[in-house]
Amino acid sequence: MKSYAEWQAMAASQTFHKDAFIDGRFVPARNGNTFDSINPATEQCLSTVAACDEADVNAAVSAARAAFESGCWSELAPAERKRILLRLADLIEANRDEFALLDTLDMGKSISEMVAIDVPDSIDCFRWTAECIDKIYGEIAPTAPGSLALISREPIGVIGAITPWNYPLMMISWKIAPALAAGNCVILKPSEKAPLSALRLAELASEAGLPDGVLNVLPGFGESAGKALALHNDVDVLTFTGSTRTAGLLMQYAGQSNMKQVWIEAGGKSPNLVFADCADLQRAADISARAIFTNQGQVCIACSRIYVEESIREPFIQALLKATEQFRPGDPLDPQTTLGPMVDATQLATVGRYVQYALDEGGRVLTGGKPDYEQGQGYFVEPTIIDNAHNGMTFVREEIFGPVLAVCTFKDEDEAIALANDSKYGLGAAIWTDNLSRAHRVSRKIRSGMVWINTWGDGDTTVPFGGVKASGNSRDKSTHSLEKYSNTKYVWLQL
Ligand code: NAD
Repeated sequence: MKSYAEWQAMAASQTFHKDAFIDGRFVPARNGNTFDSINPATEQCLSTVAACDEADVNAAVSAARAAFESGCWSELAPAERKRILLRLADLIEANRDEFALLDTLDMGKSISEMVAIDVPDSIDCFRWTAECIDKIYGEIAPTAPGSLALISREPIGVIGAITPWNYPLMMISWKIAPALAAGNCVILKPSEKAPLSALRLAELASEAGLPDGVLNVLPGFGESAGKALALHNDVDVLTFTGSTRTAGLLMQYAGQSNMKQVWIEAGGKSPNLVFADCADLQRAADISARAIFTNQGQVCIACSRIYVEESIREPFIQALLKATEQFRPGDPLDPQTTLGPMVDATQLATVGRYVQYALDEGGRVLTGGKPDYEQGQGYFVEPTIIDNAHNGMTFVREEIFGPVLAVCTFKDEDEAIALANDSKYGLGAAIWTDNLSRAHRVSRKIRSGMVWINTWGDGDTTVPFGGVKASGNSRDKSTHSLEKYSNTKYVWLQL
């Protein structure tokens, strides 16, 4: 790991791509417009970036469709597609410090987290998914004698991928690795709040041997580039990670256009249930603090609602406060920093608004609660824990996407399950107990896509990531991620 001074030196000489990547070339937006990509730790502009709109979407979709129809990728031998995606993984690895730096500068995540989690996870996603390409077989259906039915999966065509800013490289990798592995062509619209790593990735994909038009990257705003992509009649599938509000709009756009499939990974308000039979309360508290303060709480699976059994409320809160001392705002380029800035002024204001709701509705601040903000010095905020919380309060019901933790209590297992499920979201949940039967019982009754027992957030490329209810309908990672990027077809032969 580089030192703070080495990261600062690297940042000072870092250059950025600013144009869109269409049909194998970097080109400015057709309208000539740009937007500023801001470093949230300094509020300085890193680079101006092309602000694409409908005209660029049309050009990218035409390029992707032509590439798809040509068969240059969709009909390439699976082993060859694998080779190219493995080479891309190698190139990301060869440039891993640069990718870590790009996302840290662009959205404020601590560099140590980028190095330890986001970059290796993204490389692994490309490698693991590439390895699947020539290992997944078709089927022969058990039909009557005299017929033969072949069931195969084939690429769908043009995939529109729209991604968020909170894990820029990682969310992009989770989308485009399986979409490309399945033989499709992709138009990626990264978040306007963190577009820089996507553009570098496009360059490396081309260097790895991806044919022109197979991967196109359009930086720009949701209401222009994103909406035009979602409404386009020649896009076959939309794959999305972002807020539940935007997800609802994408489903409407699909209905208004060509009924394209829409795969959604959306918001969350994950519960964290701490039972009195949890043997190591300090460990539970340490990981629970990480579950809300990692990436400044800008994590879809953040466990932002803690339900602690009444009998251990006081010792658990003390352990939690101790654990929270490790999270102090600082320059995300410093490898010692555990809490960077919020991504922008809007997100900082959102945190302040929800803390005020909590106070107005009877909450009690145990720690934090205030911005750590001076104009021009970055969008920092203190890690915040609010007690006296219950499910009727606004800050317990809505996703804040910031370092704000609600502490509630429960009396027994049934009440814990009921409170956990009393949410429109269903992404993840954590359970702390040393009773094996309870761990299984409760995890079965929780309505979410993921449950962690005596841990939080764990999961590698082998397991499917996603939620239920307003958290979405999709699964990223694992072989399940490939399913949504291919059509199942049967061919029946009369013998
Ligand atoms: P967002 O919905 O504001 O934006 C996500 C993407 O959608 C961006 O690229 C944006 O430009 C685009 N967009 C916005 N409006 C659009 C429109 N009208 N048409 C088309 N595209 C549009 O979300 P965000 O603030 O970038 O990300 C934070 C959200 O993402 C949180 O709710 C978080 O929980 C969620 N998230 C979910 C997962 C998951 O796997 N479930 C992972 C990470 C983040």
